[in-house]
Amino acid sequence: MRFCFTERFLPLAIAIKKARRINELPPYIFTEIDRKKREAIARGVDLIDLGVGDPDIPTPAPVVEKLVEAASKPVNHRYPNSAGMIEFRQAVAAWYGRRFGVKLDAASEVVSLIGSKEGIANMAVAFVDPGETVLVSTPCYPVYHIGTVFNGGKNYFLPLTKQNRFLPDLDAIPADVARQAKMLWINYPNNPTAAVAEKDFFTRVVEFAERHNIIVCHDAAYTEMGFDGYRPMSFLEVDGAREVGIEFHSLSKTFNMTGWRVGMAVGNKELVAGLAQVKSNVDSGIFQGVQEAAIEALRLGDAIIEPSRKVFQERRDILVDGLRAAGFECEKPRATFYVWVSVPKGLTSAEFATRVLEQAGVVITPGNGFGAPGEGYVRFTLCVDKLRLKEVTDRIQRVKI
Ligand SMILES: *Cc1c(COP(=O)(O)O)cnc(C)c1O
Repeated sequence: MRFCFTERFLPLAIAIKKARRINELPPYIFTEIDRKKREAIARGVDLIDLGVGDPDIPTPAPVVEKLVEAASKPVNHRYPNSAGMIEFRQAVAAWYGRRFGVKLDAASEVVSLIGSKEGIANMAVAFVDPGETVLVSTPCYPVYHIGTVFNGGKNYFLPLTKQNRFLPDLDAIPADVARQAKMLWINYPNNPTAAVAEKDFFTRVVEFAERHNIIVCHDAAYTEMGFDGYRPMSFLEVDGAREVGIEFHSLSKTFNMTGWRVGMAVGNKELVAGLAQVKSNVDSGIFQGVQEAAIEALRLGDAIIEPSRKVFQERRDILVDGLRAAGFECEKPRATFYVWVSVPKGLTSAEFATRVLEQAGVVITPGNGFGAPGEGYVRFTLCVDKLRLKEVTDRIQRVKI
């Protein structure tokens, strides 16, 4: 008799190789800042984090109460529909009608998303074939171009600069690129630059899309975060937009609901249907309790948005006034909870962000982390209370440039 189980049962490691698409992801450029942040925390520094765009204000109470009530209904414990409850899609359509004067058919022009990030990423699954070109305005929310990479497409970046008022220069796109392009990503009010777009820009986008047969994807996550009475518009308000485009929206920033994962895509029927088709194959929708709460949020609308708008506006004034008094150059944003600040001459974005972290204990994001044209800027968020923001402006004056 021979016993050889030590050999037989020795666990053998298999060779694990990630898919090529993972290796093709852009390098993560925040490694250095992340490390310095952890070191500062370990040293006991009283860190103020203006890095993440995630509201610190709680979700309005009536929305939370709706979830509590909806959570106990057994009908909500079963699989939801991946495209969203018709009641949720009707609430979205009604809100678009009230807010933007845009009429939507709930059944065919609205699809629910597990947060808009999910829909943005799945848009390329539905519409981009390997080798196809996607136009991406940048600096930007990274999911637009990562979606392209995950599906074998090619990104062509359109720089957003101070000279073009952070609106992509469509006339500067080479003719052959425009001819090949399948899709275009735009985002206004913009993260990270806080720029806004008006009707003339959206009209030019529609003309460009019609001329070159390009799908327009507009990320409208920040339309409800306008200040001083400014109300950003929907891309779908422009004539012809529904023939060429889809708009991504979310309850995350509007209602301080980032953790809830609920958003929507609206617009062109074929685009909505394509996205819904992908989703029905990979997810099973949003918990119906969350959808019921989202319906309540959309129904209450401005009544529950206005209080947080006021809070962010006051914070914006404190930070921008303080930064300007300290000699920094920045515009007062008309929308979003971001402040896009020029880096002092002679420093890169990363060098400046590092000094602010090391000397002031304040975390901010180097602009080039959102794309190369963001070099020369840093992004501050407004997601801490006003006393802490005042503290930021005091501390930053002491940073040696
Ligand atoms: C926060 C954000 C989103 C996504 O939010 P979800 O929570 O996934 O809905 C989308 N686009 C931009 C530009 C954002 O800043």
